[in-house]
Amino acid sequence: MKHSIKREQSHARMSFVECENQRSLAEGESNVRATLKHMKLSFHLILTLAVMLTMAQTAWAADNETKTFTLSSVTGSSNPLSYDGKVFLSAQVGTVGKGSFISMSTPSSGKVGTIRLYPRISGKVKSLSFSSAQVMMIDSNGGGYVKIGKSSTNNWTNSISQEQTSWGSLSFTNASGIQLENEKDYLEIELYNPVRNCNFNMQGTLTITYEPTPSNLTHEHDFTYEVTNSGNTLTATCGEGDELTCTLTNRQISTTIKADNAVANGLSYVALLPDFGLFQTETGATKGDFTYKNKGTNENLGTTGPTQTGYYTASIVITAGGTNHTLSKDFHLGTFCSINPNYPQFTTDKDGNYAMDGETVTLTFTSKFGETLTGVTATGATSGSDITLTAAGANTYTFTMPAEGVNIGATFSAPDASNFEQNGDTYTIKTANGWGWFCFATNYDLAPDGFSGKVVKLAGNVSSSEMAGKSGHPFKGTFDGQNYTLTFNRTAAENFCAPFHYINGATISNLHVQGTITGGTYESLGGLVGHSEGNITINNCRVSTEISTTVSGSALHGGVIGDWNGTNAICTVTGCVYDGLIYNPDVAGVTTSCHGFIGWDYGNNMTIKFTDCLSAPAAYGTDKYALGGNCFTFVYPNSDPTYNMTNCYYTSILGNRQGRPAATATVAPGNLGNATTDHGMVDSYENGFLYDGNYYTPKYGDAVVEYRFNDGNERADVTINGTGENLVGVNITEEVGNIKSVTYNRPFNTAQAATVILPFNYICNGNEGGKFYGFKEVVYNEGLHKWVCTMQEPGEEGSNNVTTLTANTPYLFMPDNATTSEPKMTFPNISSMTGGVVTLQTTTANDGLYGGDTTDDNWKFHGTYKGKSWAVASNDYGFAAQSGTEAGGAATVEAGQFVRFTTNAFIKPMRCYLTYVGTEAPAPARGLTRSAAATDDLPQSITVRLVSRSGETTAIGEIDTKTGELSFDSEAWYTLDGVRLSGKPSRKGIYINNGKKVAIK
Ligand SMILES: [Zn+2]
Repeated sequence: MKHSIKREQSHARMSFVECENQRSLAEGESNVRATLKHMKLSFHLILTLAVMLTMAQTAWAADNETKTFTLSSVTGSSNPLSYDGKVFLSAQVGTVGKGSFISMSTPSSGKVGTIRLYPRISGKVKSLSFSSAQVMMIDSNGGGYVKIGKSSTNNWTNSISQEQTSWGSLSFTNASGIQLENEKDYLEIELYNPVRNCNFNMQGTLTITYEPTPSNLTHEHDFTYEVTNSGNTLTATCGEGDELTCTLTNRQISTTIKADNAVANGLSYVALLPDFGLFQTETGATKGDFTYKNKGTNENLGTTGPTQTGYYTASIVITAGGTNHTLSKDFHLGTFCSINPNYPQFTTDKDGNYAMDGETVTLTFTSKFGETLTGVTATGATSGSDITLTAAGANTYTFTMPAEGVNIGATFSAPDASNFEQNGDTYTIKTANGWGWFCFATNYDLAPDGFSGKVVKLAGNVSSSEMAGKSGHPFKGTFDGQNYTLTFNRTAAENFCAPFHYINGATISNLHVQGTITGGTYESLGGLVGHSEGNITINNCRVSTEISTTVSGSALHGGVIGDWNGTNAICTVTGCVYDGLIYNPDVAGVTTSCHGFIGWDYGNNMTIKFTDCLSAPAAYGTDKYALGGNCFTFVYPNSDPTYNMTNCYYTSILGNRQGRPAATATVAPGNLGNATTDHGMVDSYENGFLYDGNYYTPKYGDAVVEYRFNDGNERADVTINGTGENLVGVNITEEVGNIKSVTYNRPFNTAQAATVILPFNYICNGNEGGKFYGFKEVVYNEGLHKWVCTMQEPGEEGSNNVTTLTANTPYLFMPDNATTSEPKMTFPNISSMTGGVVTLQTTTANDGLYGGDTTDDNWKFHGTYKGKSWAVASNDYGFAAQSGTEAGGAATVEAGQFVRFTTNAFIKPMRCYLTYVGTEAPAPARGLTRSAAATDDLPQSITVRLVSRSGETTAIGEIDTKTGELSFDSEAWYTLDGVRLSGKPSRKGIYINNGKKVAIK
């Protein structure tokens, strides 16, 4: 049912439309009021002036409005008359009618007539002006009138009491105003003639001037109801028949069935009318229950919702406006299955690639890398049935969704050879499209087994955000960047984000990578490789990638490799440079556990080998904040793998230091050693390498040849170089600080003493492979006609054989006779020392003097960490390392001779030598001749006597001046004070033979 109450236009609008000749006046007045209201807010003083000015000009009360009626528009011919569809003039007593003009009159026998005028105004009526009116009251006695007002309040305008038989204007005014309470209120026109009837005729216009006042009516909807939206929605539209503005948006309110397609899940499906509550509040409507019907079988399910798949209709009856309105909506209970496009080139028109059975799915192919589609299929994921695809334009297909998932299959042709080319087992990437296709072919198994056994070459600089390899589909081949640059910019949407997303058993060589990975909160990102497994090799690669990360806590990013794991595998990184950056764009110190080369690594029997690598991370700049704790310069040292780091350097540390601090020079340093390998970018030398025009060499020395980190510990296992010949020294503390164990890789010979100096304090437990002796004195033995050097065990007498070695102090080391054929020096007691560590100590001089109980003023015992050479003749004595010629003479010095050093003489690092510092000037020339054994001259060979802590001689031997080795003649017998006997003694006593005390009884 539809009501037909036409909405009336607003009063203001009526004035403008219906009364053109009043328009300017009404507009002007309205503008005046608007201006005044505005000015009241702002400028009170100016307001006052404006009011005065305005009132003077218009002669209208400022708050008055006018409403004008064109009387020719009045409809009807007899009582009542209407205006714009509503009652306008209604005679209560007397008559009202319209012919060529409007007339109203008292009853024919005279007396009083009462006519109601409905101006549809809420306000105080100040005047009514008729442009053309007549008053006909023929009354010789007088007393008749026409007045307008309200009988209920006895408030009337001034009466017209004289006949006006000609048409003319006529006004009624009332200064205080006649109150109309609301738009339904009315004025009364009272006609009176004491003798006979009175007529009041009007035509032209009626203009009413009034002061608006608030209406005392409240709006009540007068709704019209309509079922729309294919029968699904009931809409109530308010006609505003009471003249008051409706509060509803667009004067409408609706209620709509919610019965969406859904997955049949065995539960009863329920349709809803979710917006009915508000609808009911406004309309007073009531509703019945939903009923359901199976559209396929026509079965009526009553008020029980369906549970099984099928097509249904839900219906409900709403009673509103006294009428029943039936709403209904179709819905489908079905299966909701996924469409698996399988390739990034395919998209569907379904949100999340899910569709209900029976729906039409549109599948679109979009080429990503210049490839073309050569075939496409759709297959039921469960049944394996072919699903008919219908071509729907270029690269577009449609199909009807079955009640199961759908797999899309496709075949492609590669981009043309200008982008990507195959030649046998070698593939060449030439463009970004070529790189993209390489990634796609790896990720979707278009290449045989991740390019395993194949070589992929880069033949130009490319920029791409595509990643090679994905979980389950790693790159397995050999990638040769041919020294081109891959620019990789990507906002991560996954862990392990990297140019090589997943690799397994792959080799990547000769590639420079740059760009930015915006990592967000994703973890284990890598500048070159994301996730890696198996034996992997990274050669001659430079990684400049910058990784931004907002991870709070452990991020496990790696500057080069995000993650590596496996079993019985080796990760080899050789000749590589990392100059990228890992930073937080928001705040410093909250992202932790990131590492310069490898972010995380674990497995079983794994080894990581870094050789000739440089970590030179970029500087943190604007909005690039530093990482927090637990970072390592190269790699996180897990308990497995084992780590080897050879000839690796850093220019600045990332967290914990690994590798060696680098000294850089553009001219080859003297200790660089011979060139070993050209890795491409990096030319490797014995001590350092050349990269980008700079030589990188150990900044603080090279006595440490290897650091091995394990167990997440900053403390490394360290190997000290005992065989190098060109070392420059050591400042080990600067490099690694505390260390867990020391391996000294210098070989010793059984029962052949050797000199050593060690960079750490150590408490012997007797299992070091031999005994240590400190320097005590060198004296000339008149009886022997020999110089005798006394070496004494360090430590306190009675200290239970515990001997404390002092860092940076020279010692004589006597390997045990009892050891095997490969005696060596070991330090097994570190683990039981305080903290289980020793601290490698700085010695800036790379030199040590015996600090023990020496009584010698003329001789000093030195140790040196660096290969020591003599540019001029000196008073230093040591073992000649190579043959040469004596200073100022022609005599030849043999290697190993304990001689006075002269020009070009040198000794190996971590050995010791004696210096004569006495004031008695020896004859320099004779120091090298070895010809005359002058008693007061410096020695040509020195007899060495070893004594216990108590001073008891335990062994006597001699230094071989040719080999530099100390030996004990098994045939020689000595007294305890060192006197050599002619043979085995016969007298009872204690003697020395073959380095041991022997009792003759
Ligand atoms: Zn309304």
